[in-house]
Amino acid sequence: MEKNSKIYVAGHRGLVGSSIVRELERKRYTNIIVRTHDELDLLDPIAVRAFFETERPEYVFLAAARVGGIMANNTYPADFIRENLIVQTNVLHEAYKSGVKKLLFLGSSCIYPKLAPQPIKEEYLMTGPLEETNSAYAMAKIAGIEMCQAYHRQYGCNFISVMPTNLYGPNDNFSPERSHVLPALIRRFHEAKMSDAPTVTVWGTGAPKREFLHVDDLGSACVFLMETYDDPSIINIGTGEDVTIRELAELIAATVGYNGKIVWDKTKPDGTPQKKLDVSKIHALGWKHTIPLEQGLASTYVWFKNSFNSA
Ligand code: GDP
Repeated sequence: MEKNSKIYVAGHRGLVGSSIVRELERKRYTNIIVRTHDELDLLDPIAVRAFFETERPEYVFLAAARVGGIMANNTYPADFIRENLIVQTNVLHEAYKSGVKKLLFLGSSCIYPKLAPQPIKEEYLMTGPLEETNSAYAMAKIAGIEMCQAYHRQYGCNFISVMPTNLYGPNDNFSPERSHVLPALIRRFHEAKMSDAPTVTVWGTGAPKREFLHVDDLGSACVFLMETYDDPSIINIGTGEDVTIRELAELIAATVGYNGKIVWDKTKPDGTPQKKLDVSKIHALGWKHTIPLEQGLASTYVWFKNSFNSA
């Protein structure tokens, strides 16, 4: 990828896409193209075709997707499978037809079996049943991986697929119903602190374990892999370290400065018991995360306060 190559980042306003744009700019890439949802509806195959025929990007980061936390996935599975299948089908096919040099597809750690051995190696894909709360989303992402590999096999396309662990950081979704656990808890603990609430309710038992990667580390990994990795086999991106949801809640309470009590709502689903990625493959290539969880939480809390106060 040359510094003046034409690079399209799909989903540039989201958590992942915005971090990729920041990293490309930091590395002095000068020809980045983006489209807002209003300018280009990726669900519309005709609009996507026209965009690729006119713009002819050389490199594509496909970071546009319907995403959400456990409750959103569990409540709107049809939207999650349909929209992700359509967006990735439109973009991958038009990228092939317009002769894109390389494309990076964003998957997710939820594509792995619910009870996969830990830490999860790339080769565990499709070795067992999925977690029920997000199987529709996961199936769409698995289809996306398969499509990248099929276009590689049949047409020689350089389409790579990366599997990030749970992400957090600026531009995350902090809405109470749709968000993932980390932004949900930052907001809930912040609001409890502001209103002097004696308790904060957290979903599930607190026992599940999750790995959290700051999205700036993900952005750096994605650009690094775009520059160096030309293999259709999937590659994990994570820290290789995890915490229980209880530990996460306590860390967030401390970050926010909330001193009340945590109450567990066991009627809410726990989801998969653990999903910690094996990151030895990306470590062997020379990439490692740099932002510890405590530091990432602190900066994300500052971002949250600034953007929500100004909104
Ligand atoms: P998952 O990794 O796909 O399960 O997605 P989430 O980030 O939504 O949930 C991770 C874990 O955090 C699950 O065990 C949830 O039950 C738990 N959790 C605790 N409180 C919350 C909350 O307020 N919102 C969300 N989304 N999850 C929560």
